[in-house]
Amino acid sequence: MTDKIIPLADLRYAARVPAIPALLTAPTGLLSDTLARPLRDLRISVTDRCNFRCSYCMPSEVFNKDYAFLPQSSLLSFEEITRLARIFVAHGVEKIRLTGGEPLLRKHLEVLIEMLARLQTPAGKPLDITLTTNASLLAKKAQSLKDAGLQRVTVSLDGLDDATFRRMNDVDFPVADVLKGIEVAQKVGLEPLKVNMVVKRGTNDAEIIPMARHFRHSGAVLRFIEYMDVGATNGWRMDEVLPSKQVIERIHAEFPVTAIDANYLGETAERWRYADGAGEIGVISSVTQAFCSDCNRARLTTEGKLFLCLFASQGHDLRALLRNGAADEQIAGAVAYIWQARTDRYSELRAAMPPDAGPADGRKRVEMSYIGG
Ligand code: SAM
Ligand code: SF4
Ligand code: SF4
Repeated sequence: MTDKIIPLADLRYAARVPAIPALLTAPTGLLSDTLARPLRDLRISVTDRCNFRCSYCMPSEVFNKDYAFLPQSSLLSFEEITRLARIFVAHGVEKIRLTGGEPLLRKHLEVLIEMLARLQTPAGKPLDITLTTNASLLAKKAQSLKDAGLQRVTVSLDGLDDATFRRMNDVDFPVADVLKGIEVAQKVGLEPLKVNMVVKRGTNDAEIIPMARHFRHSGAVLRFIEYMDVGATNGWRMDEVLPSKQVIERIHAEFPVTAIDANYLGETAERWRYADGAGEIGVISSVTQAFCSDCNRARLTTEGKLFLCLFASQGHDLRALLRNGAADEQIAGAVAYIWQARTDRYSELRAAMPPDAGPADGRKRVEMSYIGG
């Protein structure tokens, strides 16, 4: 007898194979979860690998040469990703963000973008397709990404001081190369470009003002993200979180800002505008001000597991349905069933927990590099 060998990496996070409901109803684009939240935003992780080792995301002590990244056979193919994306779009998704790991490490990513760019919402509108990247390969790839149909990019950059940034990415990557990537992306029209800075108190908070100064008048929207307690490896501590309120106070003292309205319901960033017309900034206060009540995001991992919350410890194995020969209507029915049962609101619950508590259910929380940011 030959036993089927399941690669270990496939078992790292719990996932159940979704049930296919007996009664299949066609997608209406109006799905709603138990808290009346629609499904609008799908984040697709295209790789769990990265060429950086940001300490808050993939600490090098854990993600070292012995770490078992997913084998190629585990990854969803571009055809599988597009098939699932089409089903999610039928259920109401209007925006797709490609992420990772580092998405630009996935070979021929522009082919996937071309495939996704052909999808349309039920109302016949094109999708909003964007990508989050560390920009290490952006200068080289920006034009082909734009040609394939990518509309915008978000670049992660944690400071302008070279020594601080090299220490934070932990692979000695220079700031200048990220800035070059941003410049080329803007030149080819991947706009409005956003820049994400994760703020860690005592590590890079001295970079807040230099970053603000640099991106004023640049057309790019700089967003400050509170350091989050995602995953189980980054050694997160509350005292390393600098609340967004303080970020805004510091900036306001140097460059006065006023609050402006959100672009749409469910937007994660709170927006501010420089009083002198130098542009816009944002803060994402995932820790100090939970925004679960509007959370319309689903996440699809590289190996086809659907997660309903960044802090979930269990996913739903859509790849099993794909590879077991389920029809589109059956997968759509399973997705509807999962979303309608969704109760996740981790950040709201965390606000009521002791500062250094682990996951509420005691299970290992999924890593950001696996689930995608
Ligand atoms: N590698 C790409 C990048 O860095 O842009 C995409 C994936 S990364 C996981 C997506 C986003 O998550 C990045 O902007 C990163 O800064 C953010 N991120 C990762 N770990 C975080 C943490 N512990 N707290 C807050 N943001 C985090
Ligand atoms: Fe890589 Fe992005 Fe995570 Fe940094 S934040 S380690 S660039 S996946
Ligand atoms: Fe959404 Fe979960 Fe984040 Fe709340 S904690 S905003 S439910 S991803």
